[in-house]
Formats: sequence, C-alpha cells, structure tokens
Amino acid sequence: MSHDAVPYTALSAEAALVKPELMRAVEKVLDSGRYILGPECAEFEREFAGYCGVGFAAGVANGTDALHLVLRGLGLRPGDEVITAPNSFIASASAIALAGAKPVFVDLGDDGNMDPEKLEAAISSRTRAIMPVHLTGRLAKMKEILAIAGRHGLFVLEDAAQAIGATLDGRRAGSWGDAACFSLHPLKNLHAFGDAGIVTTNDPEVQARLVQSRNHGLANREQCDFWSFNSRLDEIQAAMLRVQLRYLDAWTDRRRTLALRYNELLRPYVGVPDEGPGERCVFQTYIVRAKRRDELKQYLGKNGVETLIHYATPIHLQPAARDLGYTASDFPKTMQYVSEILTLPLYHTLTHVQQDRVVELISSFYK
Ligand SMILES: *Cc1c(COP(=O)(O)O)cnc(C)c1O
Repeated sequence: MSHDAVPYTALSAEAALVKPELMRAVEKVLDSGRYILGPECAEFEREFAGYCGVGFAAGVANGTDALHLVLRGLGLRPGDEVITAPNSFIASASAIALAGAKPVFVDLGDDGNMDPEKLEAAISSRTRAIMPVHLTGRLAKMKEILAIAGRHGLFVLEDAAQAIGATLDGRRAGSWGDAACFSLHPLKNLHAFGDAGIVTTNDPEVQARLVQSRNHGLANREQCDFWSFNSRLDEIQAAMLRVQLRYLDAWTDRRRTLALRYNELLRPYVGVPDEGPGERCVFQTYIVRAKRRDELKQYLGKNGVETLIHYATPIHLQPAARDLGYTASDFPKTMQYVSEILTLPLYHTLTHVQQDRVVELISSFYK
C-alpha cells in the first residue's frame, strides 16, 4: 500500500499500543493453570455488568451464541415469531431461526434502526419477543419499543453487538431490554483477540439460565438439567478483554471525535450520521449515505481508501431466508438505505491526515 493509503482497520497497530499489558494478562492465566470458567471470566463479567449499569453479565463464546442461547431460554416453539431489523448482520436472524422461531422483519426509520411506528403492525398472536439492533453503535428507539413491548407482554432482547458504551438519555446499551447481547469480535469496539461474546441482564433467572446453558446445561459436575451447548468465554480472552475494557472510554471518545469531524467535513457531499436528541453513538461503523455509491466506492478503492458496505444484501433477501417469503418490495426504506450506504475507515488510531485524505477524495469525486 502507498504511504497515503487508508486501510479499513488498524487492529495490529492498536494491539501494539497495549501489548505489554496484554502479554502480562496472558502470562498470568498461563501460570494460573485455570483456562476455562475461572476468575478472569468472573471478574470480566462483573466489570462488564458494571460498565453497562446492569446486575449481571455472562460471558459466552461469541455474539451469535449470546443471542441464540438467550432466545433458546424463552422456550420458543415452531411458528413462534421474533421481530428484528432486516439491515443487520445475518446473526440477528439466524439466532432466531436456530432457536426454533421465525424471524419477522420491520422496516427502518430515518436513523437506520427498526422503526417503532411500523413495529405494532408486525406483532401477531405468535410474536414472543422483539430484538431491536443498535446498528452502527446508535441505540434503537428503545423508549418507544419498550412501550409497545410492554403493551403486548413481549420479551425485549437488545442486539447490542455494535453498541458497547452507547447511550440514550444517559443510559447505556445493554441496560434497556430484558437481556442484551454483545459481540466481542475483533471488529467490535471492545474486542477480544479471537471470538467472544457476553450477555447482560438484570433478571437473575435469565442469568442463571445462561450460566447453565453455556455449559452443557449442567447444574453442577453431575447433573444435566437440559441439553445444551458448550459456549464458554475462555480465561485468556477474558483476561485480555479486561485490559481492553480499561481503555474503552478513551478509545470511544477518540472515535467519536473523529466521527463528528467526518460529519462536519463530509456534510456538503454525502448524508452523514448526525446524532438525534439524547443519543450518544459509539460509531462501531461510520456509515454515510452516498449518491452513485458504487462508483464512489470504486473511486476510493482505486485511490487506496478501503471501504465496506454494512450490509449489501438485507437479511430478508438472503437465500437462507427464502422460505420466509419476503420480496424486494417489502421494505422500501431498507432498500433505499442499502443502495446508498458506504462504511468509511474509522478507528481510534486514524490520523487527521488519513481522514483528510478520505474527505479530499470524496469531495473531488463529487466536483
Ligand atoms: C457482530 C454481530 C453479531 C454476531 O457476533 P459474533 O460475535 O460475530 O458472533 C450479531 N449481531 C450484530 C448486529 C453484529 O454486528
């Protein structure tokens, strides 16, 4: 890559900033002889719950398992429905299908998240839960969604995979629903060095069920109460996550400063992700809405700026979703969104020089 290239991520450079601490954390685990469900996982859960402002957290192997295991705990039966957003990562829907229910989608609002005004029409007698997704690190319209869920007696599961630390009216993602799921995948704002995930809840029953269902349904060494999976967060990842968590707020502040700078510089050329009232977005992705998006993406790529699309094909139009019977005309806002979105490089080590390069190219493309 040329010297003025702007890659999409800078993961190894970021790891290098805290490498001595990470290595000490790994060494401590190696020396301890406790590699699964030991003190590091327990401490990380306690710290993570505190960070989100909830009573409990349970570490699991990845974000998809987190969603799947919480949904399995609801005892869904064939034909039961769970409502979610169509423009998410596929795991939001696959977790519903794998838990034995039918994913039902609702169209987006102008914020790119589930539109609460369309939610009530999607609720049927078979609806068991609502799973809003806090896409890009911006909370879905939780007050409106919780009011609707309350009227219908529905469980609310936040897919907070992209939203660690994001707030709405000062309240963090992960503390709004009956439970919430986070991914700690390397591309998420708080990340492990491999796969990891975590569930937060204020409900001791949800917590107890999770702790058992991530570990074969075992109540203790001898007694298995229900068939379940092995989906545990290992000690080395937990120990490294504890290091990362100590830096999260500083890294998030830097990411937000850069995102708001992008907003000001790019506003003349593309649709920028302004925050709504009460919102504090953590910009897990920085997504603009661009005219002639495909041409712009190609132009940026040719000039060394790596971009992605989150996500190019909405879930309801995936081959895996064929049986659900959706068509391309079902969600006009989603289709419009999908045709315009472009994710630009954003990470806490991005420099102003790199950022200016991205802005310059976008402005020259539209001139
Ligand atoms: C990343 C992500 C997941 C899945 O998490 P994994 O840890 O990759 O399994 C689920 N939902 C959303 C919205 C995500 O961004």
